[in-house]
Amino acid sequence: MYLPIHCASCATIALRVAHECLGGEATCPRCGEIAQVVPGCSYVEGDVPLFNRLKRLVEDSGLSSEDARRLAFEIEGGVESRAFDILAKRLPALQPELFSPGERRTALSILDTLLTSASDLRASPPTSLQAPRAGDGAGP
Ligand SMILES: [Zn+2]
Repeated sequence: MYLPIHCASCATIALRVAHECLGGEATCPRCGEIAQVVPGCSYVEGDVPLFNRLKRLVEDSGLSSEDARRLAFEIEGGVESRAFDILAKRLPALQPELFSPGERRTALSILDTLLTSASDLRASPPTSLQAPRAGDGAGP
């Protein structure tokens, strides 16, 4: 089983094997920082190529965070076929006929994850929680 992870440091989304995601965190495959598991969805190995395909598609689309949020909203609240049509309009590379009916449902779930994360990432600048300390000299 695979879980989507979301790295705030390098603004990337990736899939990680579930057992590598301990305590809701995993290592980002791109930058090595700690990434957060996106809650609420999991995928099987067969979904990985589809995930990567859709991820590239969303990254190449240049959607604004506002667009991404709106599309995620359509997926969450909408009818499957309609959501797919709306997405296909905004993402020309997403051609409905390239996806089997079975794939569409998974594709929508993946797109929801990708778009929600994309809108979060771009809406709020990453907060650097811990500034690195310059050494721990004055211990007791
Ligand atoms: Zn990263």
